Amino acid sequence: MEQERLTQPHTQDESEAKTEISLRPNSLSDFVGQSQIKKQLDIAIQAANTRGEPIEHVLLYGNPGLGKTTLAHIISKEMNSNIKITSGPALEKAGDLAAILSNLEAGDVLFVDEIHRLNKTIEEILYSAMEDFALDIIIGKGPAARTLRMPLEPFTLIGATTKMNLISGPLRDRFGHLFHLNFYTPEDIEKIIHRSGKILEVEMQDQARHTISHRARRTPRVANRLLRRVRDYATVHGNGIIDHNMALLALELLDIDEYGLDGVDRRILKTIFEQFEGGPVGLSTLAASTSQDMDTLETIYEPYLLQIGMIERTPRGRKTTPLAEKHIKKDL
Ligand code: ADP
Repeated sequence: MEQERLTQPHTQDESEAKTEISLRPNSLSDFVGQSQIKKQLDIAIQAANTRGEPIEHVLLYGNPGLGKTTLAHIISKEMNSNIKITSGPALEKAGDLAAILSNLEAGDVLFVDEIHRLNKTIEEILYSAMEDFALDIIIGKGPAARTLRMPLEPFTLIGATTKMNLISGPLRDRFGHLFHLNFYTPEDIEKIIHRSGKILEVEMQDQARHTISHRARRTPRVANRLLRRVRDYATVHGNGIIDHNMALLALELLDIDEYGLDGVDRRILKTIFEQFEGGPVGLSTLAASTSQDMDTLETIYEPYLLQIGMIERTPRGRKTTPLAEKHIKKDL
């Protein structure tokens, strides 16, 4: 199911991860879009640097591929500090977290991806680490057990999550900054493709870039992936230059339509429209009818379909909009 993977916003494989590193912006000024977040971060970073303190803990929330990891790297660069990277599911044992925390140097950034997947014990260790820069270690067992408080160097925790509703109140409250990354405008996506094209040394016509940017699900990771796939196509079927016709042919072969929808998106829309007469239909029924698991449907497909106005969320379930109906009827 090649198409399903093409438009999905997670990193696909090692080779994609490597290219992503080369395409990653290195400074706030290089980071396209999200201007409100950039302005606030810029002030926070400058103020912290002036005071010689680390910036307050940052929680980044948004769909996969919108730039959370990139921002964490940029913050650490702009603070002239080191970054240590881990993730919620990787931190299984209290000892692992204690080792990471006690090895941090003053001002370091600790990036915890998928922070909503931390287990409770680990999360509780983070509370005192974040608030007091201290590690509470329990020594011994039973009545003889006592707590030893070990000081830590001041550091900045940057948490990233796709599911804000799964972050507990006490954890959320310990972050000084909370930023919600939104989908990008097609104009910003076009700038990102322009920038990536220059780095990858791809020759591309303006109209081709415009078309690709409208089909990239408003997501930088998907935009960069489409650019690479279209470049492959132009290399095989032409002289490597991406003109408009080449871009259209490549996108057609990849089965990505003018709204950036792939086969699964269209199946979801058709199911609501045809099987459920436009809805409303509950998420679990929809998942079963389209053979998708609920989580994928809710976190990967639905946010984009909502964003571009193809579906509506009502208290009784999901409905297709007139725009979706028009789009599906073209295919019938
Ligand atoms: P996330 O951590 O939210 O899943 P990433 O930070 O890994 O997303 O971003 C995915 C890729 O998209 C990065 O490698 C980077 O090249 C690109 N990217 C993300 N946001 C931007 C941006 N604002 N400007 C330019 N490129 C971006």
